This record gives sequence, C-alpha cells and structure tokens, in this order.
Amino acid sequence: MIPYATQNITKGDIKKVSDVLKSDFLTQGNVVPEFEKKLSQFTGARFAVCTNSATSALHISCLALNIKKDDIVWTSSNSYVASANCALYCGANVDFLDINSKTYNICLKSLKSKLRYAEKIKKLPKLLIVVHFSGSACEMEKIWKLSIKYNFKILEDASHAIGAKYNNEKIGNCRYSDVTVFSFHPVKIITTGEGGAALTNDSSLKKRMTLLRNHGVTKNEKEMINKIDGPWYYEQQILGYNFRMTDIQGALGISQLSRIKSNIAKRKKIATIYNELLSDLPVLRPMFDPDSAFHLYVIRLKTNLIKHTHLEVFNFLRKKGIGVNLHYIPIYKHPFYKSRNIKEINFPNMEQYYREAISFPMHLKLTKKKLTYITNILKIILLGNHCDT
Ligand SMILES: *Cc1c(COP(=O)(O)O)cnc(C)c1O
Repeated sequence: MIPYATQNITKGDIKKVSDVLKSDFLTQGNVVPEFEKKLSQFTGARFAVCTNSATSALHISCLALNIKKDDIVWTSSNSYVASANCALYCGANVDFLDINSKTYNICLKSLKSKLRYAEKIKKLPKLLIVVHFSGSACEMEKIWKLSIKYNFKILEDASHAIGAKYNNEKIGNCRYSDVTVFSFHPVKIITTGEGGAALTNDSSLKKRMTLLRNHGVTKNEKEMINKIDGPWYYEQQILGYNFRMTDIQGALGISQLSRIKSNIAKRKKIATIYNELLSDLPVLRPMFDPDSAFHLYVIRLKTNLIKHTHLEVFNFLRKKGIGVNLHYIPIYKHPFYKSRNIKEINFPNMEQYYREAISFPMHLKLTKKKLTYITNILKIILLGNHCDT
C-alpha cells in the first residue's frame, strides 16, 4: 500500500537521536531548548514552547489564553478533532465555521455573518482557532481585523503549515495571532515521533505555557512566590500537566528542521506533477498556493460527470494499493459532537466537500513512476469501462 503520508528519516537524523541516547540527559537536558530556539529563529516568533504533541500544545494554549467554563470557542469544521477538543478540555463551548469551497479553510463571509449574529445575541466567541488546511494560510490579516472589532483571541492550528508563508512571512511568527501551534506527528511536514510546539510573541503567555507543560512547577528562583527553603526548592504555582517533549524527540526535530526547505520544495514538485497528470480528468484539483507547505493533496470528484460514486472510487483506489484518505470528516458529524446539537444545514460547503474529497498520497517517498501509477488507476475508474468496483 502506498501510504497517504509517511515520515522521511535520514542517517543524519538517526545519528542525532543516538547521540542523545548516549548522553547524560534523555529529557530536560539542553536539546529541547535548542530546538525551541531554532523554531523561533525559523518562524520569527519570540518564543517557542515544545510539547509532547500538538494536542497538548493546543490545550496549554487555550489554558494560557484563559479559556474557561462557558466561554465560547469557534473553529473550522474541516479539521482533526483536536482543534475543537482543546476548548472542551477547558470547559468551554465549541462551535464551527463552514469552509471556503476553494481553499477549504474557514469561510470569511460566514465568519463575518456569524460574528454579526453572535454580537446581537450576546454570544461572541472569546477565541477563534483557525486551521491552515493542507499548509495553505487562512486570510489572517482580515481575520485579525475582525478580532479587534469583535474582541476575540486568535490561535493558529498550523499542524499542517510549518514552513508555509503568508504575506511573504513564515507561518508561526504570530503577527496576526496570539499563539501558533505546530504538530510533529510522523504524517506531518517534519516529525519528532510525537510532538508539537506553541509559538508566541507574548512573554506572559510563554511563561504560562512553560509552567502548564511541567505540572505548573517552576525551579526559576526569580519566579518564586514563597521564600526559597534551600537548594532543593521548587514550587507548584498552578495546576499543570506533564506535556514535556524528550530530548530524544528534540534532536530528531532539530535534524528534521534543517531539511525543511528541500522537503517542501519536493512536496511542491509532487503537487505540480499531480496537477499535470490529472488535468484531463473530471476532478477538481486543489487550489495552487505557491506559499503552501503542501501537507496534503486533496482532489474533489466532479460526481455529476462520473458514473461511480465517491465511495466506489475511494474503495477502488484502496483495493489497488493506494492509501487514499479523507481530510476531514466534518468535526460536528462525530457522535460526540452530534450530541451537542450542531446543525449540518449550516455547513453547505463542508457537506459538499465531504461528499467529493479524496486525499492522495503526499510524501517524500513518491517517485514520478508512483505518481503516474496512482493517477492511471484513477483514470481507469473515472474514464474506463471498469465494472469491478
Ligand atoms: C495532526 C493534527 C493535530 C494533532 O496533532 P498531534 O501532534 O497528533 O497531537 C491537530 N490539528 C490538526 C489540524 C492536525 O492535522
């Protein structure tokens, strides 16, 4: 099976990781702080706080932004469940936005009208979590202007988008947000096995997130509330968690980050080849954003022009060894969210997208030959007289 995504690990990566395994510190040494420094240099954000996953980073971001019981948080309907769960961990209520049918990011028009209505009924969100779907940035400047008008915070779930650009600057610099989160899961642009990071320019948010990832405990003498009893002394100041990244993971992250430019260039090349190979087929190709990180390659079937259903095409591709996927099941459709009485009728673009979308393999192990194989299989089912579905 050709997977839809997979990690890219070099001998250099393995060397960096084994160096840590042979060193004195597997965790809480100086490798994670070095990775954090590299992330902040890479993005232009003042601070980076590494965690054991993007999910944890989203969680501590919401806590640091003071999301509490009964607050309202909005996010995209087209994301992984983690983008919404983080608000619920803090006791807040979550609501969703429909997507733009070209970018598959949140629809600005529906955001505006939802804000106007929310203002009327006095249910404005305290936080908006935007998701840069597939590594292509949301319209951040416009969203940021709305955040000033309606007084909400912005958290960027950039799990797909490390290395992507917006207005010629790196995603993660937090120019138009309070915090940006990256994921280093193996299917993402770069990996640490499991891992994530929260970036910010705000020193008080950085301080809170650093406490939250480590039990709420500090060893920093300058930050102590009590008088220091002795050299053993540390202090728990808030209720935190163990969301730390290990130095083993940090070493892999540093090594991976050093290759990100060529990694994204290869992904861009793959997207270009797909675009050419699929040009004559009854499919809608993804919008081409040259500044994307090219995390996913999602096509949409023109279902009115083909004789097979979406499910039949999907099953045929899987049967032929192509690990196609679907990003994403609308979050509000999951049984857990369905019980929260969210109406599908409010998400027409997301609903249609879900009936047509297929994520094709997108990773560095794809060759021109494999891409040709993949697109030929799609051709057989879409254009051929194939009845073996
Ligand atoms: C992968 C992903 C997450 C979760 O990342 P983890 O590092 O696995 O916790 C959250 N949001 C989006 C959009 C993702 O793609």
